[in-house]
Amino acid sequence: MECVLSDKVLVLNRAWVAINVATVRRALTMVWQDAARIVGTEDYTTYDFESWVEASKAAREGRLIRAVNFTIRAPEVVLLTRFAGVLSQDVKFSRRNIFDRDHNTCQYCGRRFDRADLTLDHVVPRCRGGLSEWENIVVACLKCNTRKGHRLPGEAGMNLIRQPVKPRWATRVGCKLGRERKPSWERFLDAAYWDIELKP
Ligand SMILES: [Zn+2]
Repeated sequence: MECVLSDKVLVLNRAWVAINVATVRRALTMVWQDAARIVGTEDYTTYDFESWVEASKAAREGRLIRAVNFTIRAPEVVLLTRFAGVLSQDVKFSRRNIFDRDHNTCQYCGRRFDRADLTLDHVVPRCRGGLSEWENIVVACLKCNTRKGHRLPGEAGMNLIRQPVKPRWATRVGCKLGRERKPSWERFLDAAYWDIELKP
């Protein structure tokens, strides 16, 4: 039981945007206090504590938490019922956040590196009028950055593995997710952003 309570739960704000990761223990406390609702990962129905206990009775899968009077499934996603000021939080255009957005992966060769071995590349070089903005900066390994030089990707015969855009969700959530991402979280993690494929 201790183990289940320490499991990770994705926290969504009222606009269904992922803003944090909490433990099952913390998530259930928020639900108990009416500060959050549990999101059913099959049909995205929201439950308060009582209705979740009820819904858990029919559950055949998922991790269970057994208390004295009831057994409930461990939630995987919760939705905050109140705005906590997080909606207005803009993703800061910082080196750290660009590395997070690009998963420490060179956006030209697609390989992952230590941050120390990565650089930031202006897709349209500054000397050609390229701006320092989310849509024009990508993470590149030293080799690719050197190869590209002051050219456009096309001129260097290089392709971006995905179109750089401004992340909609705070990338610090991205850090916290780490490798513990659950399949049920994917829908809320701005798949539209990570899965954008460049047209050939
Ligand atoms: Zn590279």
